[in-house]
Amino acid sequence: MKIGFYSESVADQAALAVFAEGILGEPPEPIEMALEGHGVSTVLSLLANVYRGVYYNSDAEGLVVVVDCDDTAMHSLDHGKPEVTSGDCRFCQAQAIVEKTKKHLKPRNGRPSLKVAIGLAVPAIEAWYLVGENHQVGEAAWKVGLESNQRPFTRRQLKRLVYNTDRPSLELETECAVAEARRILEDLKAIETAFPAGFGSMAKEIRSWKSQ
Ligand SMILES: [Zn+2]
Repeated sequence: MKIGFYSESVADQAALAVFAEGILGEPPEPIEMALEGHGVSTVLSLLANVYRGVYYNSDAEGLVVVVDCDDTAMHSLDHGKPEVTSGDCRFCQAQAIVEKTKKHLKPRNGRPSLKVAIGLAVPAIEAWYLVGENHQVGEAAWKVGLESNQRPFTRRQLKRLVYNTDRPSLELETECAVAEARRILEDLKAIETAFPAGFGSMAKEIRSWKSQ
């Protein structure tokens, strides 16, 4: 299956391809289009253009979009219900951008529509890479930290734990991200349990592509 990956860094995109391989049971095929990584401030603002570009100009069947949560609202499986406000949840923002963009697209030449899976890493994707390593990562721990105003870690600490430096080269970042994703594949359930809304929802969506 041809899948494009869009997130803040190409290192993370490489790790996401590994996660998709674990979820689908076979490696995703690359799409005919290079997707650059963009910083957190632009990953969402460029999403409409990226989606449109991948839709019209590539052979992708799926697009996986992952954003870091940082200090914004965590995603909840309740979001989307009429009585629940999602605040500044980037997961829901990404979803809304995709839905809005889809409405203005013409059918793809002889190809099915482009499926999208969205992920939200809490607070940053490095927390995903630490699953199974005895750190307090996970949506529950982060939520408790927010409520007590004692966050389990900073973004910089997360980077040091994963890369041994908070300023990794792109090469080191890619090497570590891919290695951790490979390790986590051995027990996908652990990451889906630790990050049910941000990773679990994405995995569920990708898994649904397999049966189609
Ligand atoms: Zn949300």
